[in-house]
Amino acid sequence: MKAIEEYVRSIPDFPEPGIIFRDVTSILQDAEGLHLAIDLMQEKLKDVEFDVVVGPESRGFIFGVPIAYNLHKPFIPIRKKGKLPCETVSVEYELEYGTATIEMHKDAIKPGQRVVIIDDLIATGGTNEAMVKLIEGLGGKVVKTVFLMELAGLNGRDRLEGYDVDAVITYP
Ligand code: IMP
Repeated sequence: MKAIEEYVRSIPDFPEPGIIFRDVTSILQDAEGLHLAIDLMQEKLKDVEFDVVVGPESRGFIFGVPIAYNLHKPFIPIRKKGKLPCETVSVEYELEYGTATIEMHKDAIKPGQRVVIIDDLIATGGTNEAMVKLIEGLGGKVVKTVFLMELAGLNGRDRLEGYDVDAVITYP
């Protein structure tokens, strides 16, 4: 059996010179890679008690929904500005490559609910920090965040001090 790392294609100088892009599609396009990724992420939740899974558009959906489905939990999408039809809460934040605004439905999380965040990758941690703000703004408690990949050199964890952050693959 191949290790999960072997399914990741690394592309130098994308989307800008000097960046090594870790490609999730090379995992997804292999049935074994997809299974392994979901199983290894889900394994990180085996001792965690929680009520809902939250995942951001779009790669957070890919990994968040199967995990929520397997563990029989609801899935709450976080979307880019202007996509959700009902009343929303929103946060603007800085990305590795620019700025963005993300939104969540105001009624998606009830005060006191224990939330797990699932996403493909942590780089600077800006997206995760913004998601935590949205969730906590609605009274939710973030009990854990699970990433498939972590780019440790960008120190994303520094922005998430005090939170339980875990990743399946860590790149220096
Ligand atoms: P952060 O907010 O800087 O932590 O960036 C996280 C988001 O940037 C992730 O959700 C990824 O979708 C995207 N991203 C940044 N670098 C990479 C990469 O090397 N591969 C794939 N996605 C990346």
